[in-house]
Amino acid sequence: MNRCTKATIYKDNLKHNLEQIRKYVKPDVKICVAVKADGYGHNAVLTAQLAEELGIHFLAVATVDEALELRNAGIKANILLLSICTPPEMNDLFEYNITPLVFSHEYINLLIKTSDLFCETHNVNKKFKVHLAIDTGMGRIGCYADEAGEQAKLISDSEHLELGGMCTHFAVSDSLTDDNQEYTKKQYEQFKLAVQNVKDCGINPGICSCANSAAILNNDDMLFDMVRPGIITYGYYPDDITEQYLKSKNKDFSLKPVLSLETKVVAIKHFYKGQSVSYGRTFTCEQDTDIAVLPIGYADGLLRRFSPGLEVTINGKNYPVVGRICMDQCMVNIGKNNKEVKLWDKVLIFGPRESGALNTADDLAKLGNTISYEVLTSITKRVQRVIE
Ligand SMILES: *Cc1c(COP(=O)(O)O)cnc(C)c1O
Repeated sequence: MNRCTKATIYKDNLKHNLEQIRKYVKPDVKICVAVKADGYGHNAVLTAQLAEELGIHFLAVATVDEALELRNAGIKANILLLSICTPPEMNDLFEYNITPLVFSHEYINLLIKTSDLFCETHNVNKKFKVHLAIDTGMGRIGCYADEAGEQAKLISDSEHLELGGMCTHFAVSDSLTDDNQEYTKKQYEQFKLAVQNVKDCGINPGICSCANSAAILNNDDMLFDMVRPGIITYGYYPDDITEQYLKSKNKDFSLKPVLSLETKVVAIKHFYKGQSVSYGRTFTCEQDTDIAVLPIGYADGLLRRFSPGLEVTINGKNYPVVGRICMDQCMVNIGKNNKEVKLWDKVLIFGPRESGALNTADDLAKLGNTISYEVLTSITKRVQRVIE
């Protein structure tokens, strides 16, 4: 574990963001922190532990394995499973108290069967909570608002399942255009209808939630009983909802990026005019220069499409990555007779200000025509996360 390519997780920044969210959202609104994809690449267990310390009692994951990792680490909070699992995974939901999202007859019936069997073999008589997902316009999982009543009935008529909540997910809440804000409002209205349908059937809808990070910050009239922040936990604003925008609306809220990706200079080589660098010979030295070799590549999450364009920080100065990024290495042009860059110097790819990096994940996202979410979750397993 002495590899120089590593990700540092600034625990205090993570705590700062969670505290900001807790302060921003009214105390009677519950918070469900999205820790899927290993906490957006930041270490799910650490994020979950800090959330629990702050009295946040819901976490959201995408897979049963992610939920089990949290349980094995002693996390007691409620865990929402946001994606659909397979029948062989269902028993673990009941064994480890994981709350699934449901929306189809078929899936609910499978859960009923599994929960009945679970209670029979363990000789217990329990009710397990499920949350009913409504598709109000995301176009992903969820039933339509007018089907909510019958689905809720199916759940509450079963012996061992009960409706613990309802949820929906916004498709364009991170955009401030009139069109998209209108669409978000329509989704919200559809969700209210679905909740009313369930109430009309005489069933308690439980904990209702719809707001992701963007809606929490921009649509605070749409929060219901619980909100589900993801990206803001890790210190990044969702698209149009920026710090400047919130300031202009007089909102007191700040975020700190949590993760820095770094490596070291492992070789410095002299290159002569006309020599090319890396696969495809996309870069040729126009004059004699020195090239630093870094042991980080696309198999670490440094996306191939970041070059050309990517600049990395060495001792407070930015230098361009030249030529193609390889699987495990890339090359940086430090110029001729550079006295400031030495062997084993630290190289910052991106991170919060205190890491010394000049780029954030947002800067890299722009470069790679993607979003901070993808930059963060692309960092692979072989990059050790060091908590600081
Ligand atoms: C990932 C996810 C969230 C969190 O989204 P952010 O944009 O990161 O805040 C909330 N709800 C659901 C259903 C999700 O899948």
